[in-house]
This record gives sequence, structure tokens and C-alpha cells, in this order.
Amino acid sequence: MRVALHWQILIAMFLGTIIGIVLNVGASSYSPGPPLELKNARFWSSDSPDRVLLSISENKEARRIVVGDKSDGDIRWPAHLPGSDETEPEFYPTLAVLQKSDPTAFKLFYHHGRSTARWIGDTAKLIGDLFLRMLKMVSVPLIIASLLSGVTGLGHADRLGKMFGRTLLYYVTTSMLAIMTGLLMVNFVRPGVGNLGPVAAKPQAAVAQEAQSLGEVLYEQLLNMIPTNPFASAANGDFLSIIAFTIFFGVCTILVGGTAADRINEFVEALFAVMMKLTTLIINLAPIGVFFLMLAVTATQGVGIFGTLGWYMLAVALALGVHALITLPLILRLVAKRSPWKYAQAMSPALLTAFSSASSNGTLPLTLTCVEERAKVSNRVGSFVLPLGATVNMDGTALYEVVAVLFIAQFNGLDLSMADQLIVAFTALLASIGAAGIPHAGLVMMAIILQAVGLPTEDQALIIAVDRVLDMARTAVNVWSDSCGCAVIARFESEGDATSQVPIEGELNI
Ligand code: ASP
Repeated sequence: MRVALHWQILIAMFLGTIIGIVLNVGASSYSPGPPLELKNARFWSSDSPDRVLLSISENKEARRIVVGDKSDGDIRWPAHLPGSDETEPEFYPTLAVLQKSDPTAFKLFYHHGRSTARWIGDTAKLIGDLFLRMLKMVSVPLIIASLLSGVTGLGHADRLGKMFGRTLLYYVTTSMLAIMTGLLMVNFVRPGVGNLGPVAAKPQAAVAQEAQSLGEVLYEQLLNMIPTNPFASAANGDFLSIIAFTIFFGVCTILVGGTAADRINEFVEALFAVMMKLTTLIINLAPIGVFFLMLAVTATQGVGIFGTLGWYMLAVALALGVHALITLPLILRLVAKRSPWKYAQAMSPALLTAFSSASSNGTLPLTLTCVEERAKVSNRVGSFVLPLGATVNMDGTALYEVVAVLFIAQFNGLDLSMADQLIVAFTALLASIGAAGIPHAGLVMMAIILQAVGLPTEDQALIIAVDRVLDMARTAVNVWSDSCGCAVIARFESEGDATSQVPIEGELNI
């Protein structure tokens, strides 16, 4: 008996999580005795899930480095280390930050100081990343082939315009609903008020980012839609540019018509069939990829990743739950007239991969295949709604931005007025449109919103630690909303099919 793909992925995800957590509990501490004598340095490290301590001495200069939670002051350094208690430690919020700011120290840790759990987690990530790379490999040619076959298949620019309008309306409506859910939830749970436990001590400016103004962000999006060199955009994987140029190209193919259009269509159909085949083959590897990705996250971060900042995470999770399990299914049932349960089952490989990879763009090939092959939505709709949605329609991200920003406001003892909350809602919508479909993009965009209401951008450091798990959840919601959008648009499209059959090639009224 062959187990269905989504069950395979679910089981793999579960196994990866459990094994990772067990490893994290059993093998996550590493603290050697005396410092290691290296060629020109002495190195000592202690690795535990919430904190890494490093001591490096070179030519009499002794340094101490702390990565992770610095809030509780009782960091104990063994007496035999070089330096003294007066040596002022350097603090880094995460290993990724250390890797960027001090690659040498990071390398020493990577080669000589990791706990077994972290070693296994890092190795699992290397394997999980291979799967993500394969998905990335197919995404650009697949989007181009799929979108082009979708647009040329429309046959009539009128219909393209209508579909575009409906798609945008769907994107904005669902994002606004998500934002409202987030606002209600954060005002109800009030996660930033009261005792936050040990994380409550404010970390120092860790994510100092240059926030752009809203106008700048929007203008940048517009610029992206007019690539100066479409080949360069394809090579760089700039989704918005690729989408815009492919649509222009497809529309002009219809306009030109005749044998030229026939030839292009024939080629595009062939290309599309081959790309779909390749994608399907890769997707069969999803259980393995998901297993290793989950193992990587839980082995290095432990259950802690699901537990810290509990109320804040609960508020985000509840709001995402309401949106994904009530609002979107209602739309699916009432507008698209489809069974939400069956639709979710059909989409589950994509949703689970979105969850474990935290990347809408990375999941896109899988989303496209699930929508077309399992949920039986036409390629015309799927190839139009999904690539655009992966970059533009991010309900989960919009909702998350709202909760996180209001959490930071509450944490700072500020009760934002209705007007301020509206600014947050509006900027969150734009930030979600501007965010790329890659891990942690939402966190980066948050600086814009914080700035818009005058909150300290460095307070983002508070929520970095738990961003990964929330990113996983919001990415799954982002992909779920894109998928539901396909069903909604498809309903109107098929009605259109019945009433107005598409005309002859080459004949267009734009
Ligand atoms: N990781 C999300 C996505 O790919 C974006 C975000 O960070 O919110 O959809």
C-alpha cells in the first residue's frame, strides 16, 4: 500500500520534530574542560540551547563572547579561562549575527565547539537545503512556462484584465480581513502587558536596520515591475519583474497571433509539460526534505522554539488559526463553493512544505502542482494567481506584522490610539505586499511599520528568537490564502467560460 504524499510529509515532519526535540534535550549541552590549544589561539566554548559562550585568546588578548539570551546576569565563566571577570563580554543575539559580524569566531565555534545536537541539526540543514535548492532550481522556468501558457491560453486580453482585477480584489480583501483578525486578537490577549518572564529585559539594539519610507517601498515595487533587463531579472529570480515581463510577452503573443503565436504556444506548452514533470519528481522528495528541515530547527532550538514568549506566540497563533480555519474556509465554501476540507487535503503537500521551509517562493512549484493536479484548478488560473500571490498576497505576514508591532507597543507601555492602530493596519498591508516570499522577510519589513508609529526598531530584537516558528506558521497561511484565491477566481472564470467563449487568436480589444 502506498501512503499518500501528504501523509508521508506529515509523518516526516512529526518524526523530524520528535527526533530533534529528543536530541536537543539529550545532547544539547557541550562544555569541554580546559581550552583547546589551536595553532595561534586558545579556544573554549560552551553550547546550550539558549546560550553559547565562547572564550578566545590570541597573543595575550582575551575575548569573551555571549550568543543568545543575555538577560539573566549569572553568566558563569570557568576560572581557568584566560582573561578575568573584568573582561567585558561581547553580546550577539544569534549565531547568524555572530557569523556575519565575526566570521572567525563563528568558524572556531563551528569546527570546535558545537554540541552533538547542534552538529546533527546543522548537518540536517545541509541536507534540507538541498531539497530547497531543487525547488528553487525549477521555480523560475516553471513560473515563466506556466504563466505564459496561462496568459496565452486566456486568448483574450479582456479576460486577462478581468482576472487581474478579481485577483487583486481577493488579495486586498483577505489581507485586510487577516489584519482585522490580528488587531482584534492582540487587543484581546494583550500579550505585551504584564509579566513576560526572563525575556522581558530589553536586549540592546540588535537589528538596527535602515527603515525605508512607505513611498520608497511602493516605488521600488513599481520599478521591479519594469525590469531594465528581463534576462537579468530571470537570472536573479526577481519574481515581480519576471511576472510583469511574462504577462507583457504573453499579451503581445496574443496580439500578434497567427503562426508566430502558434509557434510560441507550441513551445510554451512543451516547456511547461517538461517543467511540470521535473517538479513532480522533486516533489516526491518532499518527505525527506521536510524531515531534515524540521530536525534542523528542533535539534538546534529545542522545544524552546515553541515555548518562549508564550503569550505573544499564542496571540499570533490564535489569530492565524482564526484566519486559516474560519475566514478562508468560509470564503472557500461561500464564494468558491468548494469543500474547505477536501481543498485543504489537496493542498496539504504545499502547506506542509510552506510550514517547514518558511518560504512561499520556495514552495511555489509545489503550490502550483497541487492546485492544478490535486485541486483540479485550471492552469490558466493557477499560473496567474499563484506566482503573483507568492510575492504580493501575504495574509499571514500582514496579520503577524500587526500583532508583533502592537506587542512591541504594549511592551513599551504604549496604548496605541485607534488612529495609530489604523496606521499600523495600513502599513502592515503594504509591508506584506512588499515582503519577499523568503524566510524572515516579514521581520525585515517590520521596521517600516515601527517607524511609521514611532516605536523603537531595535525592539525587534525581542521577537527574533521566536520568529522562525511564527514564520513557518505565517508562511503556511500565506500559501493557503493564495491557494484559496485560485479556487475563488476559478469559480468566476468557469462561469465566464460558459457564457463567453474565447475568440480567435490575434483578435483583441485591450
Ligand atoms: N516567510 C514568509 C513567506 O515566505 C514571509 C515572511 O517572512 O513573513 O511567505
